[in-house]
Amino acid sequence: MDKDLAQQKIENAQSREELTAIYNELFGKNGSLTVTLKELKNLSIEERKERGAELNIIKRELQDVYDVKWNTLSEVDTHKPPIDVTLPGERTVTGDLHLTTKAIDDIRRIFQKIGFYDYTYHEVEWEYFSFDTLNMGPTHPARDDFETFFVQGPVSSKYGRMVMSPHTSSGQAREMLRRQGPPIRMISIAKCYRPNWDASHTPMFHQFEGLCVDKNITINHLKGTIAHFAREYYGSDVKTRLRPYHFQFTEPSFEVDISCSVCNGTGMVDNRKCKVCKSGWLELGGAGMVHPHVLRSGNIDPEVYSGWAFGIGIERILMMRGSIEDMRPLYEGNVSLYYHNS
Ligand SMILES: [Zn+2]
Repeated sequence: MDKDLAQQKIENAQSREELTAIYNELFGKNGSLTVTLKELKNLSIEERKERGAELNIIKRELQDVYDVKWNTLSEVDTHKPPIDVTLPGERTVTGDLHLTTKAIDDIRRIFQKIGFYDYTYHEVEWEYFSFDTLNMGPTHPARDDFETFFVQGPVSSKYGRMVMSPHTSSGQAREMLRRQGPPIRMISIAKCYRPNWDASHTPMFHQFEGLCVDKNITINHLKGTIAHFAREYYGSDVKTRLRPYHFQFTEPSFEVDISCSVCNGTGMVDNRKCKVCKSGWLELGGAGMVHPHVLRSGNIDPEVYSGWAFGIGIERILMMRGSIEDMRPLYEGNVSLYYHNS
């Protein structure tokens, strides 16, 4: 440790970056001055006192030199090459993925992590798979053309008319047939079509369907999977609940609710009813244990196997996460309105 040399080095530094490196060489954890101070313990008490006092004076002096030098150097690194104004500029990214696409990517990733595979079925589907396999008989109101888009095309004696698939549940029996039996752990993300147009409905929308069929599958598995999804997508403090409901293709059936993040599930904000949820809970989608009729449609014996399914609207969960009030602009040209929510 040579004091004069150290002082010279500090005084010759050309930039703050260089000065910082010199500082670390001297005063850092393994810096030369630090090491010299540590070595004092090997000396006798008398020597230690004397040398210690000397070294502390040197240390203070060098730190003073350092402080003065630091203030004389400007923050700009003088060693950097000058800017070449003739080089082309960096390209500015002007676009972004659509919010729905981002939500689909998130959902896919969350379910893939827990062992679900992703499979998508047709947008144009037979009535048979959209309704009959799902225990929705010929007189079910969903088969009315106020509820479903029918496609002008061939009519099958076995499968009926063609429709624009009104839900991802059309893939349930198809998946059971394709896999030729359990185990099934599918997540199906697809476009769906219904003739509606208002703040919370567009004629084309997206759903994702979870389907799990195996031996000894229970409501607990359904509940755990949905709770996992909600925590991953909305945050770890979100709570979920299943509320009894009715669907033709599940028994028992539930509506799935999640706790409202605006009022933290209390239903109240500043002593007033929460405007977003009114009750502390928000409806996420439908779910239930797969109806024996559906399992039989997929050639699966309901006496041996059981399963659960859920269907959730992607625009809906997107609206809930970003507190978007109208989903129609998602499919209009100008989505800049929503950029602050992404
Ligand atoms: Zn609320």
